[in-house]
Amino acid sequence: MVDCVVVGAGPAGAAAAWALAKAGRRVVVIEGAPWPRSRACGGGIAPVVAQWFDLDLTPARVGTVQQLQLTWKLGDPVDLTLDPRASLWAIDRSKFDDCLIQAAIALGASFQPETRATAATWDGTHWTVTTASGTHTAPYLIVADGPQGDGAAWLNLDPPPARSGLIIEASDPNPSATPTARFDFGTVKNGALWSIPLPDRAQHIICAARFRGSRDRPEQLEAAARSMADHLGLKVLGSPRPLAVRLWDGDRPLHAHQAVLAGDAAGVADPFSGEGVRPALWTGLRAAEAIDAALGGDGAAIARYSQTVADGLGRDMAWAKRLSTLFNSVPKLAYKIGTRRPSVKGYIGKMICGELQYTYVADRAIKRLTSMLGGNLFKA
Ligand SMILES: Cc1cc2nc3c(=O)[nH]c(=O)nc-3n(C[C@H](O)[C@H](O)[C@H](O)COP(=O)(O)OP(=O)(O)OC[C@H]3O[C@@H](n4cnc5c(N)ncnc54)[C@H](O)[C@@H]3O)c2cc1C
Repeated sequence: MVDCVVVGAGPAGAAAAWALAKAGRRVVVIEGAPWPRSRACGGGIAPVVAQWFDLDLTPARVGTVQQLQLTWKLGDPVDLTLDPRASLWAIDRSKFDDCLIQAAIALGASFQPETRATAATWDGTHWTVTTASGTHTAPYLIVADGPQGDGAAWLNLDPPPARSGLIIEASDPNPSATPTARFDFGTVKNGALWSIPLPDRAQHIICAARFRGSRDRPEQLEAAARSMADHLGLKVLGSPRPLAVRLWDGDRPLHAHQAVLAGDAAGVADPFSGEGVRPALWTGLRAAEAIDAALGGDGAAIARYSQTVADGLGRDMAWAKRLSTLFNSVPKLAYKIGTRRPSVKGYIGKMICGELQYTYVADRAIKRLTSMLGGNLFKA
């Protein structure tokens, strides 16, 4: 018997397990994949997350990126230089997730890779999680099974739909002395195309994803990613790897009985940029705090978790969604206006690195864009 079962060892589950173990709670993490597993991801993360852990996460870093380039359909470039103290991290996701889970194990967490959870049932006091090799029972449960897991249904919760994307890895025959992350607008309709350099490996990860609309056209995403590789003179390595993400689309209940959802299972990725690792880590840590408090006798802690996520993340994500809606309605105009103003250029860099929230800039950006369109295209 443990205090909590965590399903999924991605950033959300691993962060939750680490925090619970650090608080002296008994925790078991069940992970379906063999470990360490290769996880497709752009691997660009805001350096602010390192401040949330008293751990050395730098072994998972494949370099830092100080230069950003924004483009419209791979042309009309706008260059931004980040403050060196706030450079974007390019991480190896396999190592990053492993770093966190090893830290949790070192604090006493039990870890079971290659063990897929097939069901979880609530008997009024405990959760029982079923796997092919047996069951795990605990009073508390964290479901952190990512964008394509079934776990939310065990709690009768309904996360937002998974959006599709892919990555391609590409080598760089002429690596630049100033590695540059690129964010392109307009090539992928209702979505995004971006590339994160891995400076220590002379490689790039190119990502294409659709964030709105219902039709999946993976061949178009692949064509967009390949066109960016060609444009940058990169050599594509291997085949594209599909992946999904659940973007925030409104505050929802994220708890049931003595269980909570965290990370993509909760649908908390940024609807404007697709960034999901930072919100996964953040919700994993908040989930652990809620369960630690509940185990300590705070009867309202689990119910408060949904509100904590709404207050701490949902407010900002609501602005990200408004910005995304407007940007995708008039992408060319939004790109022109958004990237030409010097103040906006400064904000973009700070937002990407986690130093500034949408809340502080999106209201003004939306008002300016809508007024330039001469109407109330979008109600902020
Ligand atoms: C094209 C694209 C590029 C992206 N690039 C970036 C980026 O550069 N930076 C960024 O911040 N975000 C990026 N994201 C989003 C990011 O990858 C996710 O938001 C993030 O991985 C979510 O973390 P998580 O812990 O919630 O889930 P995951 O990382 O998916 O972890 C969930 C874990 O649960 C396990 N699991 C699933 N089902 C079960 C089960 N039944 N039993 C046991 N284990 C189970 C899985 O094997 C997995 O290990 C990108 C998304 C897309 C689509």
